[in-house]
Amino acid sequence: MNALPDPAFVLTRSGRYMAIFGGIDLRYYHDGTHLIGKTVHDVLTPDKASWFLKEIETALAWRALHIVEYSLVQGDIRGQAGSGPSYRLWFEGRIQALDFQVDEEDAVLWVASNVTARKELEVQLRMQSEVDSLSGLLNRRKLMSVLAEHFDTFERYATPMTMLIFDIDHFKRVNDEHGHLAGDMVIKTTADVCQRELRTTDAPARLGGDEFVVLMPHTTCEQATPIAERLRLRIAETLQALGCIGDSVTISGGLACFRAGDFSCEDVLKRGDDALYQAKRAGRNRIIGAG
Ligand code: GH3
Ligand code: MG
Repeated sequence: MNALPDPAFVLTRSGRYMAIFGGIDLRYYHDGTHLIGKTVHDVLTPDKASWFLKEIETALAWRALHIVEYSLVQGDIRGQAGSGPSYRLWFEGRIQALDFQVDEEDAVLWVASNVTARKELEVQLRMQSEVDSLSGLLNRRKLMSVLAEHFDTFERYATPMTMLIFDIDHFKRVNDEHGHLAGDMVIKTTADVCQRELRTTDAPARLGGDEFVVLMPHTTCEQATPIAERLRLRIAETLQALGCIGDSVTISGGLACFRAGDFSCEDVLKRGDDALYQAKRAGRNRIIGAG
């Protein structure tokens, strides 16, 4: 039993550690032998300890294998300062009720596998699938899923949502006259201004190329107009301050909000795109509202 790669704890219903087997590789696990005889309340913060007790109860009631995922970090561990992992470790717990009592109590076997590497990879993969690497904003795929969620909320609760779609004016010129790297810097700077100027709930995204979208939940078209205008001015100011791209670079945008007759979230995107097209035709460097 002690050769088991992952530590296996015998824990009673009241949360007392009665035995520990395996998990001796200190690259993956802290030595748990000092836990024996203690309870989860002795070694964990009240919240974490209650969570452990709840999962033990579930495994005892369920009788079948109960699988949970949890993390532990220094703040979760009670006792001497500096005890416990210094960064967040993730575990998969496999909990099985034992068919005999231990110290006159019902008990479970709790096998804790360190899955931190897998979890970190998951986080990294999710980020790569949702975030545009050049701008650091949401990518088109994530934008469409956030937009669809807002549309569902709108259909159910009539919560307003306004979308700004904007495109950099004469961006081809920047690339042609100052090179692709300068073009990339303009995209990155534009994205940074969006992140700085907007509320954290306003999800800015890069739709592709020099086209961006900002979703403003709980905001009517009227309320969004000054926000979009401020963004337009800030972007132009900031790009001008860069100083290396010659004439000032501006943006044109279209504003559109969800309407009662909309069939899907594509409708609002289409209206915004039409308004953006009008802004370009009307001479650029302006925002036009589709209403
Ligand atoms: P308009 O005012 O009508 O928008 O004119 P424009 O020149 O900006 O035309 P458009 O928006 O169609 O051009 C977008 C250009 O953006 C075309 C493409 O070469 C360039 N582009 C797309 N993606 C990138 C990128 O990641 N980096 C750089 N540097 N350029 C890009
Ligand atoms: Mg453009």
